[in-house]
Amino acid sequence: MTLPTIISRNEHCISRDNIDDKALKVLYRLHNAGFRALLVGGSVRDLLLNHVPKDFDIATDAHPEQVKKLFSNCRLIGRRFRLAHIFFGREIIEVATFRSSLDGDDVDRVQDDAGRILRDNVYGNIEDDVWRRDFTVNALYYDIADFSVIDYTHAMDDLKNRQLKLIGNPATRYREDPVRMLRAVRFAARLGFEIHSESAKTIFELGYLLGDIPPARLYEEVLKLFHSGYAIACFDLLKKYQLLQYLFPQTAEYLDDPVFDNFIRYSLQSTDNRINEGKPITPAFLFSAMLWGPVRQLSEKFVQDGLPVSIAMQNAMSTVIKNQIGITSIPRRFSMVMRDIWHLQYRFKYRHGHRARSLLAHHKFRAAYDFMCLRNKAKEIEDDSCEWWTRIQTMSSDQQEKMLKPAKSSPRKKPSKKQS
Ligand code: ATP
Ligand code: MG
Repeated sequence: MTLPTIISRNEHCISRDNIDDKALKVLYRLHNAGFRALLVGGSVRDLLLNHVPKDFDIATDAHPEQVKKLFSNCRLIGRRFRLAHIFFGREIIEVATFRSSLDGDDVDRVQDDAGRILRDNVYGNIEDDVWRRDFTVNALYYDIADFSVIDYTHAMDDLKNRQLKLIGNPATRYREDPVRMLRAVRFAARLGFEIHSESAKTIFELGYLLGDIPPARLYEEVLKLFHSGYAIACFDLLKKYQLLQYLFPQTAEYLDDPVFDNFIRYSLQSTDNRINEGKPITPAFLFSAMLWGPVRQLSEKFVQDGLPVSIAMQNAMSTVIKNQIGITSIPRRFSMVMRDIWHLQYRFKYRHGHRARSLLAHHKFRAAYDFMCLRNKAKEIEDDSCEWWTRIQTMSSDQQEKMLKPAKSSPRKKPSKKQS
């Protein structure tokens, strides 16, 4: 048995003032019912780093059914990993029962031939629970019983040295759950930590295991990476660790082209800025930016093969989306918007008359315009499109009408006799 280091309440900076009221309520109720109750994971890590935690996860020795009995606002979720969710209005506090990582034939733990954990409901105590967490800095516990921090893995040293270190043997841990490689990148980007040498080196060898992860889970992870407010840093690290090719294989082929690479960077920068300004963001924009290079190249190829532009574009969009959803799912409500954004790109060249007017009035004009401006900025389009379409939006409708008038009125065509 490993003895933990206990950091007592006056030796660390975590104060209950910085812990969410609802999380405290849950901790106290479990504690008063005689169970162990601890904050664990990101919240302890972030509080120790003086960051504001995203959520407050709780670990306990109470079994899910026991947790449910204590809270009327509790729902049990998950098959692969059974958890209690306690609802406070729209806020959810997640309570997980200590898991054991001991091997065994128990039907509650199921691993596939590759070593991947498919189900993990073997309950244990805190000494068991700690070893199945991913990184040392994510395996710190804050105990509501005496307000101490419990450290089994020398996590406090890693926090100080800003190191992200997998617990245990990196290859085994990545094989159990390949998504841990993406989590390494995400935490490194967000915390500005370095991935510890062994944990980093193994990513190059095992990145391909991401190919086995179901598209729905990879989609969630992609959003966590790119909607974190640290999308640029995640993008750079995914490239550095050669993981981008497993998330966006079609895109990875185009990144040698500085125009597309820059276009993606500008798009991700704009996503990061919007998050920092508290503005809404949508997966449709992210995926349309990531996949624009392949869509554009493929549609050009179809045109060269003799298809009309519009059909070529439709076919290219369908092909690229179909390939991508084999890897990360994309809900249909977003892929519809992606198609709009892409398709509208070809209409910004029409600055006059009905075509321009209907583009301005299109319900996805704003998203398509933002997208076009980023293409302009990346020098994919080298004209004054962004400036012109920006200017026209600031004008009164009279002024707009003047701007939209054809420069020279074109002579009316006489109807041909052949046309009926
Ligand atoms: P965030 O601040 O993004 O919420 P977090 O560290 O709290 O980061 P969560 O995804 O909320 O991450 O998970 C909570 C905790 O559960 C983690 O800190 C870690 O201890 C454990 N955990 C989550 N996912 C895994 C995984 N795939 N493998 C092992 N442990 C995991
Ligand atoms: Mg968390």
